[in-house]
Amino acid sequence: MSGEEEGCWSTVGRDEAQKAQILNIGTGCEMFGITSHELAHALGLFHEQSRYDRSNYVQIIKSRIAQKNFYDFAVVGMKNMDTYGQKYDIGSVMHYRPTEFSIDGGNTIVAKDISMQNTMGQFRGPSFLDVAKINRHYDCSTNCKNTIKCVNGGYQHPRNCNVCVCPPGYGGKDCTGIESSNPVKCNGILNAGEIQRKFTINMKPKSFVNGVRKCNYHIKAPAGKRIVVIVDSVIGNCVQGCYEEGVELKMYDDKTVTGARFCCKLQKPQTLISQGNTVPVMVVAGKAQAFVQLRYSYVDHPQNRSPKDGNVTSTNLNPLILEKYLDDSVDSEAIRQEFLIPTEDVNQEDFETLVRREFMDDNSIDI
Ligand SMILES: [Zn+2]
Repeated sequence: MSGEEEGCWSTVGRDEAQKAQILNIGTGCEMFGITSHELAHALGLFHEQSRYDRSNYVQIIKSRIAQKNFYDFAVVGMKNMDTYGQKYDIGSVMHYRPTEFSIDGGNTIVAKDISMQNTMGQFRGPSFLDVAKINRHYDCSTNCKNTIKCVNGGYQHPRNCNVCVCPPGYGGKDCTGIESSNPVKCNGILNAGEIQRKFTINMKPKSFVNGVRKCNYHIKAPAGKRIVVIVDSVIGNCVQGCYEEGVELKMYDDKTVTGARFCCKLQKPQTLISQGNTVPVMVVAGKAQAFVQLRYSYVDHPQNRSPKDGNVTSTNLNPLILEKYLDDSVDSEAIRQEFLIPTEDVNQEDFETLVRREFMDDNSIDI
């Protein structure tokens, strides 16, 4: 690794001609998300949006890209890329930011499932699938002599053969459980009913935080039902990729893929419908505040999927069904304002009384 030249760059894969292969980490490239991105190139990963199936997941807005940069949005064909059967991951550290190479600052990449737009461009570090892909590419599983069972897309840890590496949101011995939280108490199951239930979590600003604070929940519905989640209000750090303060909801059946993230002020409540009957909800915060208010319920969807139908997303559902759950009477901005805590001068007592009064009959967590 060198920082002698400008920019952050690496060759994709091994380049024997170079002998000692240079990976350049120039000024401004020091973030873990960037260094791991470059290292992953050297280990063989292309950009996620170079996948040959990318047009199913994202749209490239050519009118916002200078012709000389078209090359940067090229697709790599099947001959030169193996996806190892993994789904396209908008939250991959190898994915471009939504405004990459934009000539006017607008989005050059737009997610087809628009609820995934804020998941794009994260710099926290490799996603679950990024790591899984490298492990698969280098056949790391051959390290283990024994075999253990891991579900929900988890896999045997190549360096600790008795434990599973679980997708974010999942934990326990075989990844059937909920990922443990930090602090431990903000964790559990939210049982959905036919009537909407409200869930509020407020992670207050803290001057000292041991690692990243992460609260994990699973919204559950009976088998065969789908879960409708309405995100009413979010307070977070509004950055591309939502990898600081914010919330992530895994609506797809494939739990290995990074879910829909929200960290910016919502203009209106966001309605999401799950494919299956479990929705992991993860709320993440560093030192700053993360606040999320959502409602959840289950529905019997008329387009209820057959077991083979794995590709139904919230974007291609009958819009009439979605409309039924849209509630314009909720003022997201009012909720946000009510809960917005400045980093200084917090009158904690008043605030807690307020939360209790407001949400006594509902699930409400104060961290
Ligand atoms: Zn790159």
